[in-house]
Amino acid sequence: MTPMTNPSTVLSAIDQHHIDQRRYPHGVAFMDGQYLPMSEAKISVLDWGLLHSDATYDTVHVWNGRFFRLDLHLDRFLAGVERLRMKLPYDREKIASILKQCVALSGHKSAYVEMICTRGSSPTFSRDPRQAENRFIAFAVPYGSVANDEQLERGLHVAISETVRIPPNSVDPTIKNYHWLDLVKGLFDAYDKGAETALILDTNGHVAEGPGFNVFLVKDGWLRTPAFGVLPGITRRTVLDLCAEIGLAATAADINRDDLKKADEVFITSTAGGIMPVTRIDDTTISKGQVGSITRRLTDLYWQKHADPAWSTAIIYP
Ligand SMILES: *Cc1c(COP(=O)(O)O)cnc(C)c1O
Repeated sequence: MTPMTNPSTVLSAIDQHHIDQRRYPHGVAFMDGQYLPMSEAKISVLDWGLLHSDATYDTVHVWNGRFFRLDLHLDRFLAGVERLRMKLPYDREKIASILKQCVALSGHKSAYVEMICTRGSSPTFSRDPRQAENRFIAFAVPYGSVANDEQLERGLHVAISETVRIPPNSVDPTIKNYHWLDLVKGLFDAYDKGAETALILDTNGHVAEGPGFNVFLVKDGWLRTPAFGVLPGITRRTVLDLCAEIGLAATAADINRDDLKKADEVFITSTAGGIMPVTRIDDTTISKGQVGSITRRLTDLYWQKHADPAWSTAIIYP
């Protein structure tokens, strides 16, 4: 393994690369044993992560200098790596410390932190995935949200696409993955309809999820989120945990297009943005076009938990 670049080298490299920083977000990556400015974190075009989307990843966020539910993200990532029969060169402890170091070196108090394992490629150009050398990459960049401030204030306008999410018996949706052609098609369908983002369907025609987020509805005080054919999001899980804590009924069960349109409140959930209100679905206005009270209450609680040591871990900055 290449020796780790020392922190001051990384920081001065970041200064020297301020021109590139306009094209690459300011941040620090770790790959092939070294910490690098984002502008220098590059992989081979022969990596099967690129050529075949043969990769898994996870995204955790840092808020006010603290990771939120890092353990759950590490659990999901390591489970995905194992199910894809990949091997990481680092154990869980080491990965956690690499993620912390990326954030610490970046200086970001609020960050979007990604860990990735790609199949890599075979040193002999074999087509046999067992012969590939898997690659671990991590990076920390500024925190980003699915919804901007204005959208968080007034609620998102979402279109339900006819596009069907890749079947769970083709690609296991519980392994976080980059098979996004269905989700991207959904997004373009949504833009064509004048909406801001999309929900796509599962193989039974129920509402599944959107590009990087899960969906919830509230009806008569009950919450519901799809159970089938979706990535079990950590933010989704957090909403279910918060519901249990404050005594709101919540179930994971099928949601139809109509259920969503007749809901009292709808919101989406993602590490990139947290709990985000939806006030319009196709041409139907939800919740009188305003952020609903349960959505607001859960959102407030969600952000409060970011300072709670039971739910978050502090980062030590240089
Ligand atoms: C990451 C992701 C989500 C949201 O999961 P979180 O852990 O809450 O960020 C939902 N759907 C898909 C397809 C995703 O990739």
